[in-house]
Amino acid sequence: MQEKNKQDIRKLDLAALEHYFISIGEKKFRARQVYEWLWNKSLKNFDDMTNISKTTREILKENFSINHIHVDHFQRSSDGTIKNAVKLFDNKIVESVLIPTTKRITACVSSQVGCSLDCNFCATARLKRMRNLNPDEIYDQVVAIQQEARIYYERPLTNIVFMGMGEPLLNYQNVLAAIEKICSPEGLGISPKRITLSTVGIAKMIRKLADEEVKFNLALSLHSAINETRSRLMPINESNTVEDLADALKHWYAKTKRKVTYEYVIWDGINDDEAHARALVKFCKHVPSKVNIIQYNPIDEGEFRQASADKVALYLQILNAAGIVAKVRKSRGQDIDAACGQLANKNEV
Ligand code: SAH
Repeated sequence: MQEKNKQDIRKLDLAALEHYFISIGEKKFRARQVYEWLWNKSLKNFDDMTNISKTTREILKENFSINHIHVDHFQRSSDGTIKNAVKLFDNKIVESVLIPTTKRITACVSSQVGCSLDCNFCATARLKRMRNLNPDEIYDQVVAIQQEARIYYERPLTNIVFMGMGEPLLNYQNVLAAIEKICSPEGLGISPKRITLSTVGIAKMIRKLADEEVKFNLALSLHSAINETRSRLMPINESNTVEDLADALKHWYAKTKRKVTYEYVIWDGINDDEAHARALVKFCKHVPSKVNIIQYNPIDEGEFRQASADKVALYLQILNAAGIVAKVRKSRGQDIDAACGQLANKNEV
């Protein structure tokens, strides 16, 4: 828990920590040692920093706290998916998910407490956005899942997706800072190629990512390439139209040369006809891309129903005939409300 009068030491970057160590008359290299304890080894206690003198540890204890997340509730699905309800220093809760497959162990992490977008089909949208997560809170979710991967699967974590609660591009700085730490040798040393940021589609921010020439992957929650339908599903489309997104993605590809993934749910009577499939084909021609067809996870008795298997097969046929790579993704962790769009802190008391 945060101690009010002390600064969270993980808010300092390495340079700031070095500066602090020099200011207390310590050797500069001690800062890196502490930094590695804090990030690479995820220590939660200054007393465990065995290569730091007792006197220095006392000074650190007096002046700093180490905020850390706490897995408050743990659930394991019959298909092996694990969901963590994670308590933050201010008692707010977010959820993250471990998804095991034969080849991969993927961590699905949250970037905000709640969400400000109003995608009509998503349970997280029912929670209002409470705040952005700090870089360390995002990082710690990955660490918790990395530990669970070792304990429950005896395998390392292989991939990270920003597909939990919240919109990562509306918490841009902190998400990028977290990714930087996740990838750095002082952090987890995970390759950015194994990280995917999923966005609702904010054209300006996609351009910004492109300009920074980031090395991780981008997924766009498209769900329809026809403005009228997409705006009905996702109000953000009114200010970030299909055309705006296509332009931003062209800029992304020109700068990064990285393929884009489109996430796409096919709903009964909403986007399951040929016209929508053909619009998707046209959209896919803008930049090298692939389509992940996600199964709809019902969140209530509302207007949305998964399209029939026949309609999904017809979509696939149209996409494949046009040379587009498309895969149907099976839903995971539905029995514990851990599947896409189901994260809504149901167990919070
Ligand atoms: N804000 C980001 C990441 C969170 S959502 C984004 O919009 O991409 C992760 C994915 O789950 C998105 O593709 C989202 O559209 C999808 N999703 C949301 N609710 C869903 C539901 N009920 N069933 C299936 N997928 C859903």
